[in-house]
Amino acid sequence: MPRVHVMPDALASQVAAGEVVERPASVVKELVENSLDAGAKELRVESQRGGVALVKVSDDGCGMDREDALLSLERHATSKLRDKEGLATITTLGFRGEALPSIASVSRFRLTTCEHGMVAGTEIVVEGGRLRDVHEAGCPPGTTVEVRDLFYNLPARRKFLRTEATEAAHIDYQVRLHALSCPGTRVIYRKEGRVSFDVAATNDRRVRIGDLTGRQNLGKLREVPLLEHPGMAVSGYLLPPDEARKSRRGQYLFLNGRPVEDQVVWRALAEAYRGALASGRHPGAWLWLEMDPLLVDVNVHPSKREVRFHRSAELRALILEAVEGTLRGGKKESSGTPGREGIRNEESRGAGENPPITESLSGSQQLEEEAEAAVAGSEHSGAVSSVREEQGSVPGPQTWKVEVQEELPREEEQSGESPFRVLGVLENRYFLLEASDGLVLLEGEAARERILFENFLEGAKQGAAAESQGLLVPLLLELEPRDADVVLRNAENFRESGMEVEPFGGVTVQLRSVPVLLSAADPRSLLLDLVDELVHSAESRSGRVLTFEKFAGELARVGARGERCRAESAQGLLDQLFACDLPYCTPGGRPTLIEFSSSELRRKFGR
Ligand code: ADP
Ligand code: MG
Repeated sequence: MPRVHVMPDALASQVAAGEVVERPASVVKELVENSLDAGAKELRVESQRGGVALVKVSDDGCGMDREDALLSLERHATSKLRDKEGLATITTLGFRGEALPSIASVSRFRLTTCEHGMVAGTEIVVEGGRLRDVHEAGCPPGTTVEVRDLFYNLPARRKFLRTEATEAAHIDYQVRLHALSCPGTRVIYRKEGRVSFDVAATNDRRVRIGDLTGRQNLGKLREVPLLEHPGMAVSGYLLPPDEARKSRRGQYLFLNGRPVEDQVVWRALAEAYRGALASGRHPGAWLWLEMDPLLVDVNVHPSKREVRFHRSAELRALILEAVEGTLRGGKKESSGTPGREGIRNEESRGAGENPPITESLSGSQQLEEEAEAAVAGSEHSGAVSSVREEQGSVPGPQTWKVEVQEELPREEEQSGESPFRVLGVLENRYFLLEASDGLVLLEGEAARERILFENFLEGAKQGAAAESQGLLVPLLLELEPRDADVVLRNAENFRESGMEVEPFGGVTVQLRSVPVLLSAADPRSLLLDLVDELVHSAESRSGRVLTFEKFAGELARVGARGERCRAESAQGLLDQLFACDLPYCTPGGRPTLIEFSSSELRRKFGR
């Protein structure tokens, strides 16, 4: 891997900033991505107590020398991006150079790393962002990062984490997602000290899917054979309509090896299945999209979960054709196409081992048998198979089993009440709260924004629109042509969020309902303000329909605007905020609360 260097300032500011560390699962994501970028062939992930006590990721990738290891902990230090041009053709999972320093600033952090062929490696210890120790260390080639006591130095934020079970489920999902993206890498995942899964390297994506989702799925998979359009190609597997689930958790999309979510693809998929599915159901799908990096912008989302396709109409056509073709074909998948890994992985992970696709198609039957045998634990896959055999035939403690992940637990049982006592209101804007360890200021508007946002998303995730309330008298609004265009382009987004808007001839639109959550707002200014935001959003300017997440973010911002804090409403707001998945920041990454610890207060008073 090229040397780590600190990006020039200008470039650093072009790289979308963001909250890297939302929760323990984001630590896992960042560390795993670094390991894959380093060319890991074997990846070990460990978590304890929902990742709050410990997240540990080890790889046998390229490792770093002492100088690079130290540099990697500086902000915007990356070995992956040098100049603006590079951003357009990025093929690594990381490129912003902010994950390691961000994680190290909110945990007790230890990095151990050694380059291949070196006798000694380096160990660096950082606590809450402060460098504590650097020394030479004997260690195997590769890199291990240990993150303990996440958010120990931000107690209020830590309190906002969900239960350990929920955080653990998010980690689980994250590890599985990445394990699907890199069949060529063995992945071992330990949770609370025991092996949750251990999947051997394979050059067949089916094997990896079977390993992670249960072998019973293998026979039902239908192959989407590689379909190429100019600049893009898709391949993958589908489950038949009767296996469809209530949530999108069974849908996986990998763009050049990177797990992403994309509404264009999800909608095209739903369209292809139309008629075959009960409403509100989502088909199981694993799709690998290879795309010319120039046709996609991966630098639009803080955690890179969403990307922006420059040619979404072509992408939709590609997915439709591929999926419809597969469903019409109707017969069970039978070729067992070896997974072609993402473009970016071709060199680093020895793509040479993967037989070319055309070759594999001929020996399809045989490959299918091999794939199933591999999952069953025959000679094909080393590590997994031995344990599996044990499990099948030898009585005794089971060290490993396929743990099929169920849907993530939906919001839960937050343990007890909010840990804050309301002291009062400041400037109608902030709630003053007493926490166990100091003072917390909570901005009402930001909190409300987060609450609205998650409610809109939740509605959409359930496949249903947000609850809406009809207006007694529908509102007619004459808009500028440009504004009317944005409204109509986003009609589906409006509908999903509970706002019914319809064209009413020319540039007039009719607003028939508003989301229940915003029923107290003046519908007219709500719509106009929202349109204003939409028109000014970068995505709209590029003529693109906003993703629902983005749209919901804008609507939440507009809906929360001017929220006044009143002492009577503090508890209700806190409770709702506590029920949110990521309560401590707005969708745009602003904090909902800031805290002053008792020790900080004492220091300020010279104690
Ligand atoms: P980014 O991945 O965006 O470059 P990070 O903060 O995640 O930023 O990592 C900084 C740099 O540290 C990387 O560019 C890479 O050179 C190096 N690095 C991080 N993790 C590893 C690893 N597991 N193996 C080798 N190098 C690593
Ligand atoms: Mg990284």
